[in-house]
Amino acid sequence: MRDVCIVGGGVAGLAASIFTSRAGLETLVVDGGESILERNASLENYPGFPNGIDARRYLQLTREQARNEGSTFELGRVTRVEPVDSAIPSESREAGEPGVETDLEKGFVLETEAGEPLEARRVIAASWPNSDFLEPLDVGRKQRGNKHFVSVDEGGRTAVDGVYAAGRIADEPHQAIIAAGHGAKVGFAVIHDSDANFYQDWVVPEGYFTDRGREVPPGCEEINDEERRARDERARETMLEALAEPLDERPTMHPSVDRD
Ligand SMILES: Cc1cc2nc3c(=O)[nH]c(=O)nc-3n(C[C@H](O)[C@H](O)[C@H](O)COP(=O)(O)OP(=O)(O)OC[C@H]3O[C@@H](n4cnc5c(N)ncnc54)[C@H](O)[C@@H]3O)c2cc1C
Repeated sequence: MRDVCIVGGGVAGLAASIFTSRAGLETLVVDGGESILERNASLENYPGFPNGIDARRYLQLTREQARNEGSTFELGRVTRVEPVDSAIPSESREAGEPGVETDLEKGFVLETEAGEPLEARRVIAASWPNSDFLEPLDVGRKQRGNKHFVSVDEGGRTAVDGVYAAGRIADEPHQAIIAAGHGAKVGFAVIHDSDANFYQDWVVPEGYFTDRGREVPPGCEEINDEERRARDERARETMLEALAEPLDERPTMHPSVDRD
């Protein structure tokens, strides 16, 4: 039983996983395809890249960051999510029979197209444009055109305790930085709702808290100048290597465009 399973390893799912992993929650990202951002030709409005960045490179770097923080990955489409509390036949639950109550504290089982079912205490759907796998749960989906969005509160919580939605699937504006920010925010809600001991995810100079007679709060870290320089060196090496050569990969075309 993992702490968190994130369905969708695109922009929002990866951002959520970075935060939940850094907070010490065992996080698995299950991804069944490619991010819609793979269709972008040049990502030019993501803060931090003054002349833009190749969108596929951005996704690669973000995946690497999630891995470095301890997130694990599995390939495959999630097809169904149900409470672990399967002692209750799903037909009875769906029929809303009196006295039938599901213990959501026991977590959820996720079925995938290939492989063994997965279990997690909490599930984040970051799976634009697909949320059919949530049908067995009454999370509150709304249809607009041929798309379904998942209704959430300000922390990305759905109507079902332990189930969250992040990014475009939660009806956030269709921009990468917004999906990333929302993923991070939903990751925070998951951390808050779990029993992780957490204040903020900050790395600060040595003495920032302790020289004021405060303990370093949970989730924060004080580092000395030598360590700061070592981390800076590693960060620059990673970026120099990643950006040294252009990527061969090209954007994915819209499926309805016929190139022949
Ligand atoms: C052509 C194009 C160009 C764009 N250009 C820009 C731009 O320049 N700037 C900008 O800010 N935004 C741009 N966007 C928008 C941006 O790509 C999206 O807003 C952003 O990627 C949404 O992030 P997300 O995490 O919600 O979805 P995604 O990044 O699409 O991630 C969703 C992930 O969930 C996976 N998934 C779906 N269903 C399942 C399932 N059942 N099981 C497992 N995994 C599943 C998908 O395979 C995918 O990897 C562009 C979009 C398009 C289409």
